[in-house]
Amino acid sequence: MRILVTGGAGFLGSHLCERLLKEGQEVICLDNLFTGARENISHLLSNPGFEFLRHDIVDPIKLEVDCIYNLACPASPIHYQYNPIKTVKTSVMGAINCLGLAKRVKARIMQASTSEVYGDPDMHPQQETYWGNVNPIGLRACYDEGKRCAETLFFDYHRENSVDIRVVRIFNTYGPRMHPQDGRVVSNFIVQALRGDDITIYGDGRQTRSFCYVDDLVEGFVRMMEQEKTVGPVNLGNPDEFTILELAEKVLELCSSRSRITYMELPGDDPKQRQPDITLARKYLGWEPVCNLQSGLQKTIAYFREKLKAS
Ligand code: NAD
Ligand code: UDP
Repeated sequence: MRILVTGGAGFLGSHLCERLLKEGQEVICLDNLFTGARENISHLLSNPGFEFLRHDIVDPIKLEVDCIYNLACPASPIHYQYNPIKTVKTSVMGAINCLGLAKRVKARIMQASTSEVYGDPDMHPQQETYWGNVNPIGLRACYDEGKRCAETLFFDYHRENSVDIRVVRIFNTYGPRMHPQDGRVVSNFIVQALRGDDITIYGDGRQTRSFCYVDDLVEGFVRMMEQEKTVGPVNLGNPDEFTILELAEKVLELCSSRSRITYMELPGDDPKQRQPDITLARKYLGWEPVCNLQSGLQKTIAYFREKLKAS
């Protein structure tokens, strides 16, 4: 199969490209390198099955492919709020361009949606039937509403044009190749702990997140793409829920760090709690995460230790 991965030079995309190449697939990695990096895919460039294409998904593209994973979109709040209008364009026009391509070449297409479609949820844990609690005019709206509209487009292309879609809603995922400066909590805390800088907790640290290790997530992607039972949406994430303060303490312990914890202002619209209900993923994909927070953090810390040494 020839598989297109948009956003393939990013954190999740590079792991997905690697996994698909290991399976013997041909991979076209499309990326505009906004938050992704050549370094993430440099080890794949010598593989004859791999091709890198620098392109912005806001512009249409013609390719011959059998299958598409649409991951192109900045994912960290700092990056998606840097140019919010561009974020909306990437999600919405990117979805239209990818769906148009899928329609033309009859490719199956999977959308990397997000737990952010649930906003600041008043249902806990979040099930796929929940419609969400999103502020449409807030700082996160460019990402949340962009991703919600992309889901709308996926289901309309499916109903109107019989495009063969899959939609997954990804909950906070971490691991090697996260951008060290992208402001996401796991990479921020690890980098701060390793450098001996203060650990910056936003708010009182009682807000919760559920952290999934990247290898587990990529396994979920592939299973979702390959099964015929559901088009989704299906939640993918690790149901083990932690407060941000618990995460900070765990990172400090695993890094043997003497960094101090400091408290800063909570950004607007920051969700108070988040935990995926993965009943559907278990039922349709036979999937659940196998890597717990402790061992996932150990692998991620080892990666950042090396990265900081080299820089
Ligand atoms: P990332 O920022 O590392 O990767 C996104 C990639 O998309 C980058 O390589 C970036 O350069 C590329 N990109 C951005 N705009 C583009 C454009 N206009 N045209 C072409 N390429 C473009 O983030 P990630 O964590 O790897 O996230 C990948 C996908 O998964 C995103 O769609 C994100 O919304 C989704 N997601 C991730 C998480 C998570 O916890 N990591 C959670 C929910 C959803
Ligand atoms: N957060 C924090 N300190 C940081 C970065 C993030 O306390 O240095 C908090 C943030 O306010 C949020 C949680 O950690 O409550 C997860 O943030 P992240 O940006 O990783 O993901 P998201 O909010 O999109 O789930």
